[in-house]
Amino acid sequence: MSVTTKASDAVLEVQANVEAVQSTLVEVADKIWKLAELSLEEEESSGLFIDTLKEHGFTIDSVGTSNIPTAFAASYGSGGPVVGVMTEYDALPGLGNEPVAEKTPRKDGKTTGHGCGHNLIGAGGLGAAIALKEWMEKNNIPGTLRVFGAAAEEAEGAKIYMARDGVFDNLDACLHWHPLSVTTPWHAKCAAVNMLLIDFNGKTAHAGAVPWEGRSALHAAELFAHGIALMREHLHPTARTHYIYTDGGLAPNVVIEHAQIKLFIRDVNRPLVEATTEWVKQMAKGAAMATQTESKALVFCGMHDLLPNKPLADRIYEHAVQIGLPEYTEEEQAFAKKCQEATGAKPTGMSDKIIPPFDEPPALGGSTDVGEVSYMAPTMGMLVQTCPAGNNVHTWQATALHGMSIGHKAMIMAAKTLASLGVDLFTDPELLAAAQADFKQRKGDYVFKTPLDPEMKRPMGLDGIDHKLHEGHDQHLKQLAQDSAKA
Ligand SMILES: [Zn+2]
Repeated sequence: MSVTTKASDAVLEVQANVEAVQSTLVEVADKIWKLAELSLEEEESSGLFIDTLKEHGFTIDSVGTSNIPTAFAASYGSGGPVVGVMTEYDALPGLGNEPVAEKTPRKDGKTTGHGCGHNLIGAGGLGAAIALKEWMEKNNIPGTLRVFGAAAEEAEGAKIYMARDGVFDNLDACLHWHPLSVTTPWHAKCAAVNMLLIDFNGKTAHAGAVPWEGRSALHAAELFAHGIALMREHLHPTARTHYIYTDGGLAPNVVIEHAQIKLFIRDVNRPLVEATTEWVKQMAKGAAMATQTESKALVFCGMHDLLPNKPLADRIYEHAVQIGLPEYTEEEQAFAKKCQEATGAKPTGMSDKIIPPFDEPPALGGSTDVGEVSYMAPTMGMLVQTCPAGNNVHTWQATALHGMSIGHKAMIMAAKTLASLGVDLFTDPELLAAAQADFKQRKGDYVFKTPLDPEMKRPMGLDGIDHKLHEGHDQHLKQLAQDSAKA
């Protein structure tokens, strides 16, 4: 593959547009980093994105999208092509750290942290969206730019509900990015997954005096779990089944009335995951029958595998090469090396390499709710290094790196890369056609079907969140929606 490093005027224009709002983007990234709000609780974070998008001339199309109070959708322009940009902004528990290269709890006592860098994902997506909108407006570019506030990626991702509800329908392509320890197009597959809660209900009794009067739900759960272990031998080598006991009773001298297992089923595609899910449901029934208890299996969350897209991966790689990796100061390299030393890795500092997309995309074992979007339209992401080799996301080092200049620089590079590919998607029908053809070929005759059980109206995690907490936020969002409807 030949790589041109000469950018068109339009591409240079959007890159300059990113630079023009750089200070705003860094400010947003740092605010979100400090807030470090957990999945489904990102009230102030989503509010900040909505406010900033409004200030920059976007229409807020929906707030509390798909029954998720912290999700939103915004847009600019009209007609086709329709190009989407995704943002995320949730933090992780237990990863709070000061933005310093040693394990240091936050002085304000906050224990949550942006160890996955979703503060940067949000700000980078915002930067790409603003840069593209400014360019579209100035040059009368036809088309619609859509921005998605994809809340709760770390938990029951909003994209799953948004995809089910048709929020991503009519997209021609969608863009996203993620911090990591390498810089490369996200030309990789992820695993499809179903997440199940298996409940067993038995009959309580005094375990010492009259155990024959009881029926143990825990015994049903144990039999079920043993069945899962025996089943593994007969699954495809690509399948994964991993579980925890979320309830196994409270006291040994009480026959256990309720037991619960949380189980993840992963494989390379939905049909394989669904086939295993059916088997698992039968096994739950069998375990209940054998123990004279009752079972219920609920798919409370699930995701599609991620469809890669070679034409978009090749093009975003060209842009990444033209933009180039950030230059790091001596202090920044020293910071990165100290983070590496803290995990026993070789202190090599930040990398100077951008890795080209593989011809054959590798299959990763993890899952992402971006998978849902990748079945709606050609979807491409950029991975940009925020961590040095040997460190990775979901660590305190990553939280620290995502709250200082190394993270900021990655976020700016990502914003430029996404905006540049966005220009192509709006102006290069050949690229869009090639991306669509690749998408159709990978999707084949599969018809999208949400993994969610029909009884799932909204993420289960919302039930655990005090709704009083949301009232002020909901009011704020309603006001914004009214204002933008008037505008
Ligand atoms: Zn993440």
